[in-house]
Amino acid sequence: MLRTPLLIAARSARCRALVEHTPLTRGLVDRFVAGETLEETMPVVTGLTRDRLVTLDHLGEDVADATQAEATVAAYTRLLAELGRAGLAGRVEVSVKLSAVGQALPEDGEKIALHNARRICEAAAEVGSTVTLDMEDHTTTDSTLGVLRDLRVDFPWVGAVLQAYLRRTEADCRDLAGPGSRVRLCKGAYDEPASVAYRTRAEVDLSYVRCMRVLMAGDGYPMIASHDPRMVAIAGALAARYERSPDDYEHQMLFGIRDAEQRRIAATGRRMRVYVPFGTEWYGYFMRRLAERPANLAFFLRSLAGR
Ligand code: FAD
Repeated sequence: MLRTPLLIAARSARCRALVEHTPLTRGLVDRFVAGETLEETMPVVTGLTRDRLVTLDHLGEDVADATQAEATVAAYTRLLAELGRAGLAGRVEVSVKLSAVGQALPEDGEKIALHNARRICEAAAEVGSTVTLDMEDHTTTDSTLGVLRDLRVDFPWVGAVLQAYLRRTEADCRDLAGPGSRVRLCKGAYDEPASVAYRTRAEVDLSYVRCMRVLMAGDGYPMIASHDPRMVAIAGALAARYERSPDDYEHQMLFGIRDAEQRRIAATGRRMRVYVPFGTEWYGYFMRRLAERPANLAFFLRSLAGR
């Protein structure tokens, strides 16, 4: 019931100002965000890589001008160089939102985003890391998959995210289940209309299982991004059915969510990758995490009431 208002608030400048200026927000944000700077984040990443893989996200989305997009590219270039210097590029990749590199700009947004994403891919290739394009709301899906296709001509290892709540996604999974393709399957975190998306939990879960089956049966590399114990178990069963070895697919979860389960999966010899966001632009990401789980919201509201 609260999911929709929270996701609308995630895009409201007024709510943003209120939430960002509440001192106690910080404690809860710290649960989901590894640090504000790269220097704060690197020790966290190094610690995680002892038993897990990592994908690093420099927080930010919906940039409104080319200067901000340029700053995002600079941040990714710097962090990839740092991963190379630290010898972590083999265990740490990066996740990029195209709206953070210009996709939403009114003129030539997609072209600018492609150019900027290409520069990030070049920086990743230089140190031996990889890039996955995050997926945002459904109005950007075609554009993001178009950019993915262009990038994969020169960088065949670029990964994509598909969202099981979208009605189109099973077909997209079929398109992207070919050799060399890396697909992160998640349920989906935005507020989408029923015309394009399944709206009940049961429908989304069923779609997730159908999509997982397509990816596991295909020739690509499935990345199962879910904290849901049933999806984790079904992924294991499908991997066995389609004779995938433990290094032929991976599980992914978000930083700060089900950490013990992440360690348990890693200890069984399966690949477990943690999505680690960092930076100061945490508002949209944080609100989507609140929307996913009422208990997070209750905790947050108690903090507000007690201030
Ligand atoms: P759910 O059924 O929502 O949750 C299952 C269980 O996980 C819950 O019962 C709870 O125990 C735990 N849990 C889930 N969420 C939370 C939370 N916020 N706080 C505490 N516990 C929680 N979405 C996109 O739209 N685009 C993306 O590019 C994208 N990238 C992602 C990358 C990764 C690696 C992951 C793991 C998720 C990503 N998501 C993305 C978010 C995703 O779409 C879901 O919103 C989110 O993962 C919750 O779905 P779930 O599969 O974990 O299942």
